[in-house]
Amino acid sequence: MRAITHFIHGNSAPLAGARVADVLNPSTGAVQAQVELANLAHLQKAVDSAREAQPAWAAMNPQRRARVMFRFKELIEQNMDDLAHLLSSEHGKVVADSKGDIQRGLEVVEFACGIPHLLKGEYTEGAGPGIDVYSMRQPLGIVAGITPFNFPAMIPLWMLAPAIACGNAFILKPSERDPSVPVRLAELALEAGLPEGILNVVHGDKEIVDAILDHPQIKAVSFVGSSDIANYVYGRGAQNGKRVQCMGGAKNHGIILPDADMDQAVADIIGAAYGSAGERCMALPVVTPVGEATAEALRAKLVTAIESLRVGISTDPDAHYGPVVTAQHKARIENYIQMAADEGAEIVVDGRGFSLQGYEEGFFLAPTLIDRVTPQMKSYQDEIFGPVLQILRANSFEEALSYPSQHQYGNGVAIFTRNGDYARKFASQVEVGMVGINVPIPVPVAYHSFGGWKRSGFGDLDQYGMDGVRFYTRTKKITQRWPSGGAVVDQSFVIPTMK
Ligand code: NAD
Repeated sequence: MRAITHFIHGNSAPLAGARVADVLNPSTGAVQAQVELANLAHLQKAVDSAREAQPAWAAMNPQRRARVMFRFKELIEQNMDDLAHLLSSEHGKVVADSKGDIQRGLEVVEFACGIPHLLKGEYTEGAGPGIDVYSMRQPLGIVAGITPFNFPAMIPLWMLAPAIACGNAFILKPSERDPSVPVRLAELALEAGLPEGILNVVHGDKEIVDAILDHPQIKAVSFVGSSDIANYVYGRGAQNGKRVQCMGGAKNHGIILPDADMDQAVADIIGAAYGSAGERCMALPVVTPVGEATAEALRAKLVTAIESLRVGISTDPDAHYGPVVTAQHKARIENYIQMAADEGAEIVVDGRGFSLQGYEEGFFLAPTLIDRVTPQMKSYQDEIFGPVLQILRANSFEEALSYPSQHQYGNGVAIFTRNGDYARKFASQVEVGMVGINVPIPVPVAYHSFGGWKRSGFGDLDQYGMDGVRFYTRTKKITQRWPSGGAVVDQSFVIPTMK
């Protein structure tokens, strides 16, 4: 059985006698490797390595750190095919989608190539007589990232690229379900010229997450995953005096106004609801048509579009989406479909019971469409995270606006309309962190920032963009005085002012 080990100080770092977890191939259902689960002793090795390496890395001028980022970007591009296949083999998403996963992370590496400019501080000459005030951004030291299974390239890169470029050492704790791509990324970073110890990868589960949250040398923790765990990580990390940002789950709505381009909206919603088997925090699992006529037209077109969807193994170039991540997750999704039926919703298309010939043990689910969903249903309130689209009908714009606004999650939302007035009002008033106007998956580009509201985001700084730079640095503010000769030095017991 292939063993997936930790990556510490530039080397594979096996841990004798460690607990292990199975790494599956979701297309076949087979166990393909075992990943070692770290304990505190192993984390300490990663911390010791990071402590040794970080001061020199921080002292290196930012242009030289940027050059490592440029080279890292080139190496990711050169290895795109291999990385995508590796990613698909553990996650299950189709290879083209894995390339998108890597590409969206690569764009954050591109952003980090501009770190000399991004780190520049502020300067005020002559804030008082002979007095100048300036600020500088300094790295925090050792920081850590804990990432989910659904974007094993993009989300580690969201975190590690700005963290490292800012001069920190970064300890990555990737998802134990698809841990190989994160290790491969760390190897490529080393090849790009990153000093040993600046990027360490430790695998594990709750035990190692708790050790990270309690470790006094780790100054900041970035987390992406489900909301209950995000909430827990936020609380425990903050309690220990760390800077913490935690992104959580989601239940994103797509609002369809009567004037929307219905064919375009359906094409967008189908891709956003079922792409990656719905295992995206920016998926669109709820569609809210406004008015009965809109709802009927939408439903008919959705049913037709679903009929043409192809579910396949992750290497099938014609498949629209692949299996879900584990058998347990598949069962959980099926339970939610049953729950929706029991709650009185109408199962229009039932994706349960689907079997792919030759891959009967794979974790496949055909697309499911559920109509007549209401806000009181638990199957609506919870995140399902599978290829399941729910129709929640609304009678007015105001009612449609209220649904995503009142939902416990507030990650993303989209509105489909040709009316700019409604679109502006919606963008302004909706209680959600990321809004798409005729854009189904409004993941902001790398030089903006990513983050949801309510139970989708804990902490005040978002991922990547300038918020990423702010999260991984602290600002030092300097007030300097160089009095010219002959200045009278007064003793003062009054708080200094510049008058
Ligand atoms: P998860 O919460 O199960 O795991 C996330 C990380 O937490 C993993 O590294 C895991 O090892 C660790 N972990 C698991 N259980 C833990 C525990 N009890 N204590 C401490 N750490 C623990 O999430 P997942 O299933 O890997 O990912 C899917 C979830 O992530 C979905 O809810 C999805 O919406 C969310 N997500 C959110 C965003 C976002 O930016 N808001 C992006 C991607 C995924």
